[in-house]
Amino acid sequence: MTIKNPIYVTQPFLPPLSEFTPYLENIWDSKILTNNGPFHQQLEKALCEYLGVEYLALFSNGTIALITALQALRITGEVITTPYSFVATAHSLLWNGIKPVFVDIDPSTLNLNPARIEASITPHTTAIMPVHCYGHPCDVDSIQKIADDYNLKVIYDAAHAFGVQNERGSVLKYGDLSVLSFHATKVFNTFEGGAIVCPDAKTKKRIDQLKNFGFVDEVTVVGPGINGKMNEFNAALGLLQLKHIDQALVRRKGIDATYRELLKDVKGIRCLRDAGEKVANYAYFPILVDADYPISRDALYQKLKDQDIFARRYFYPLVSDFPMYRGLPSAHRDNLPVATDAALKILCLPIYPALRQEEQGRIVELIKRA
Ligand SMILES: *Cc1c(COP(=O)(O)O)cnc(C)c1O
Repeated sequence: MTIKNPIYVTQPFLPPLSEFTPYLENIWDSKILTNNGPFHQQLEKALCEYLGVEYLALFSNGTIALITALQALRITGEVITTPYSFVATAHSLLWNGIKPVFVDIDPSTLNLNPARIEASITPHTTAIMPVHCYGHPCDVDSIQKIADDYNLKVIYDAAHAFGVQNERGSVLKYGDLSVLSFHATKVFNTFEGGAIVCPDAKTKKRIDQLKNFGFVDEVTVVGPGINGKMNEFNAALGLLQLKHIDQALVRRKGIDATYRELLKDVKGIRCLRDAGEKVANYAYFPILVDADYPISRDALYQKLKDQDIFARRYFYPLVSDFPMYRGLPSAHRDNLPVATDAALKILCLPIYPALRQEEQGRIVELIKRA
């Protein structure tokens, strides 16, 4: 049997190419390619409106934005974070000479467990870096309470949380800073890109200086900044994509609901329940393959792969198991039993706006017939 269409865990959402032509013509006419150009300014404004936040600084990618966010708040020493994330979360700490301290996750949300944070605070702790995993909001109130009690900063890795809202509005407004990624695999993409959401104009100014080598004006450099600027091409992609995002989210919501319905009685397959968000983004569809499922998680992963369906073990391995982290005392598996268990059971199923109903049906049938 020949299978023509491989199904990947995600497929970037691209509006019709013809709609992008006017943006390109504009760039070619103006010859403004980067450095806070007109599309960059428009996208910052449009994203603030769409996301319901006050200030946002665009970046070339989410990782440089994370590194810069730590610089902006002058974070040093130790930072408490989750091992259950994409490796860039902890890497951003190492790039700043900061020691990551891993704390276990909550078994129902797979987000950093606030009840486990206090025991890991030392005199060197300066901040907490939680992740809104799969776009499910963290327990932001409990985390803020601990931060206030111990005088710590909070930087959210919000790479998964584009557009997510709780009862009080955007989840990007919690903590001191939130960092977004607009990588090709994310719900909203600019091919590569990212942003820092910040609470006031003064912080945005500092971030804007840091992302442009530390330049304040033509002849003044205030610090060892980096080149984190988003260019006009990527900003234009973002403006175009924003016109289609609501429609894309409706499709994702439908796929999410269908999976939940079709998988609800499959023994050994657990869908992660939502974490109470008012507006979700359906960025991922994670399932947990429990011990009472007939085959192992890895066997199911392989079975799907044999049919050209590429699910993703996301997050496996844990960040704390990579060589540059595993020597840390907090990386020990005994310290991280919930995360260790989740990493062995997790499988993210394909979800993206263009996923067809019959394709989704085929995926579910293969899971049911194990
Ligand atoms: C995607 C992602 C990043 C990195 O973002 P890039 O834009 O790819 O640099 C960081 N953290 C998490 C949780 C992510 O999913």
